Amino acid sequence: MADETDYYKILGVERGASADDIKKAYRKFAMKYHPDRNPGDKKAEEMFKKGSEAYEVLSDPAKRERYDRFGPDGVKSQFGPGGFNFDRDFTHGADLNDILSQFFGAMGGGGGRRRRSGASFFDLFGMGRGGDEDDNGPEDGADLRYDLQIDLEDALFGSSRQLEIPQEKECPDCHGTGAASGTSRERCKHCGGTGQVTMSRSYFQVSQPCPVCHGEGTIVRTPCRTCAGSGRVKEKAKIQLRIPRGVETGTTLRVAGHGEPGTRGGRPGDLRVVLHVREHDLFERNGDDLLVTVPVDPDVAALGGDVEVPTPDGPARLRLSPGTSDGKLFRLRGKGCPTLDGRGTGDLIARIAVEIPSRLNDHQKKALEEFRKARDERSYPLQRAFRDRAETFMRAKASR
Ligand SMILES: [Zn+2]
Ligand SMILES: [Zn+2]
Repeated sequence: MADETDYYKILGVERGASADDIKKAYRKFAMKYHPDRNPGDKKAEEMFKKGSEAYEVLSDPAKRERYDRFGPDGVKSQFGPGGFNFDRDFTHGADLNDILSQFFGAMGGGGGRRRRSGASFFDLFGMGRGGDEDDNGPEDGADLRYDLQIDLEDALFGSSRQLEIPQEKECPDCHGTGAASGTSRERCKHCGGTGQVTMSRSYFQVSQPCPVCHGEGTIVRTPCRTCAGSGRVKEKAKIQLRIPRGVETGTTLRVAGHGEPGTRGGRPGDLRVVLHVREHDLFERNGDDLLVTVPVDPDVAALGGDVEVPTPDGPARLRLSPGTSDGKLFRLRGKGCPTLDGRGTGDLIARIAVEIPSRLNDHQKKALEEFRKARDERSYPLQRAFRDRAETFMRAKASR
């Protein structure tokens, strides 16, 4: 076990460790020894108390200096003869998690990072997210979602679109400082430029972001007119988006680096363009297949003949045999949608729709009357079967 008076050894950091390193080390330490993670383990509990004591001292520049110069006695004197009395909080009543949540919830402050209220101890350590993020380090920007309506033609043949995406950029006039030209940011008097204010809470000295400068340590006296002191301006970024062949509704195209800007040097997020293919008035899409309904004359369906079918490759000729029924489907291989991976093409399904003429000229009327006179029962097998079934039904009804 580490020397219980060497705070650096307890946390496992060098004597010259930065505040950041100390914080990280304590985070790791707490993950290992926190009583919640070691229920009933007295040794872990002891260890955790010592580590917390060490961190309490090393995280406070004034106390750390005293400790460095005078050793443990230099800091213990102010806590009375017994030194820390962690046990009180530990074993009686007060919820340690609460104390720690407040403690860590108030840390990190600089840069105005948002904190979820009610976050648990482990949330604050990034447990839930599985990351070991550093609160004051660079933070990558979030991805942005953009929904784009396209036509079936765009999906079939590929296309290119210019998007105008509202984005935040560093203000060009003040270069992000927020101060009017000829002026600069001034040191915040409220916090003396540290960005932090300190207050006592429980056994800790709690640092919080300065309410005046929001943790920046500096303030803007004369705001830049262009950005009203925010240091950022909204602009419309023009992005040329290439839409590859074979996309469909739900396909997401990623444009790297066009999401929200990162903070403190973090990378910007990506722009995710989610595609929505509009309904088409000629083709219906089913996966990689296309469906087209082809109206034909009744005489063409009856006598047989050629019909023209539109396909993405251009018009195709379809030969109908005599007696083609309404609703008959024809599959034209490889005339559908290209697949997104470029490995093939779906089929085109042509559905025959026999169109009954809605208006007849005299000549047609005469011809159809002749046709009626020449009616032959055997030409209409469906009607014969239908009549037989209807008669059977009526007989059954009469016998009841
Ligand atoms: Zn500006
Ligand atoms: Zn301040």
